[in-house]
Amino acid sequence: MLFQTSDESVVDGNGRVTYFSLRRFIADIAQGNHCFLCGASPEAVPFNDEHILPDWILRRYGLHNRLITLPNGTSFRYGSFKIPCCAECNKNMGQRVEQPIRDMFDTGYKSFGEQLKLNGPWDLFCWMCWIFLKTHLKDTDLSFHRDTRKGEMKIGDMHSWEEVHHVHCMARSFYTGCNLKVEALGSLLVLPAKILPYGEQFDYCDLSFAQTMLLRIDDIAAIAVFNDSQASLSVVQEILNKIAGPLSPLQLREMMVRMAVININLAERPRFYSDLDLLTEAYEIGGERPSEIRVEDMDDSRIGEMMYHICGPLVTEHPDKAKILENLKTGHYTFLFNDKGEFLADHMEPVR
Ligand SMILES: [Zn+2]
Repeated sequence: MLFQTSDESVVDGNGRVTYFSLRRFIADIAQGNHCFLCGASPEAVPFNDEHILPDWILRRYGLHNRLITLPNGTSFRYGSFKIPCCAECNKNMGQRVEQPIRDMFDTGYKSFGEQLKLNGPWDLFCWMCWIFLKTHLKDTDLSFHRDTRKGEMKIGDMHSWEEVHHVHCMARSFYTGCNLKVEALGSLLVLPAKILPYGEQFDYCDLSFAQTMLLRIDDIAAIAVFNDSQASLSVVQEILNKIAGPLSPLQLREMMVRMAVININLAERPRFYSDLDLLTEAYEIGGERPSEIRVEDMDDSRIGEMMYHICGPLVTEHPDKAKILENLKTGHYTFLFNDKGEFLADHMEPVR
C-alpha cells in the first residue's frame, strides 16, 4: 500500500519515497541538500557525495584535475564536481547502475550495440538521465554571475524544473522499480566514434535548454534527447541513412546540435505522466505523443550560435580555422557531408 503525503508525493509503508511531487523535488533536491536518489536529509543518514561524471570515467581519462566549463563560463575541477548523495544510495548506484554500464562500455562499439539490442535501451537511457540530471542539480549551487555583486541568481534558476522533474523520475526508475512505457523514452542514438591518433578519446557536452547530451567513450558515442519521446530520432533518420562509418569528434557534436535543434522546434511536444495506484503499488511512467511530428523553422543565426558554441572549441588549428568558425555562425555549415551531400569519411584524420 502506498500513501500520499501533504505535498502530493507518494511514499510506501516504510516511508520510502516512491514519487517526488514537483514541489518536493524542487524544495528538497533541486534547491535543498537532500540525497538526490532517496531524498534523505543529511542530518538523518551518513552522506558521501557523488561525482557528477562517474569516477571510473574520471580515472580512465585522468580528468580529476581537469577543468569543466559551465554555462556561465566558470571553470570547475571535474574531481570536485559532486552533489549530495547518501552513502547507501551511492553504494547502490555503483552496483546496480554504474557497474553494468561500465562493463558494457568496456567491450567496444560492436558488442555494446549487440548488448543494447538484447537488453533494450532503458539502462543506458536512465544512466544518461542521471548524468544530465546531476549536472543540472549542480547548477543550483553555482552563481550565474561570476561576480556576485551582479546578483544572487543561480544557474539552476534558468532551467524549467518541471522538465527536469521528468528526467528525475526516469533516472530513479531502477530504485522505484516502476514500469516504463515506450513513450517515456527519449531519443537515444548510439554511433561509432572515430579513434584518432591525437586528441581525446572522451567527450561530454550538453545543451541543457534543449535537454540534449553527448557522451563519447573510446569508440562509442551516445546522444540522448530526454524529453522528445523519440521525435528527434525519427527526424534525423534521413541523415543517419547517409552516414557510412565512424564519426569524428566534430561530426558527433554536429549530430548532437542537429537533434537539439529539432527538439526545441517541435511544433507540439509530448507530455509525460507518472501513474500510481496506491492500493496495488503499481507505478508507471508514460507519455502522450502529438498525432504528428512537425518541426518548425528555426532562425539560421540561432542554429549558427548553437553550432559555434558546441563545435567551435573542437575546431583544430588549421589554415581555414577562422573561415570555418565564421561559417559555423551562418547555421549552414556541416562537418558531416561534402558539397555533393556525401559523408566525409576521413573527417579530422591526419593528411597522409
Ligand atoms: Zn539516498
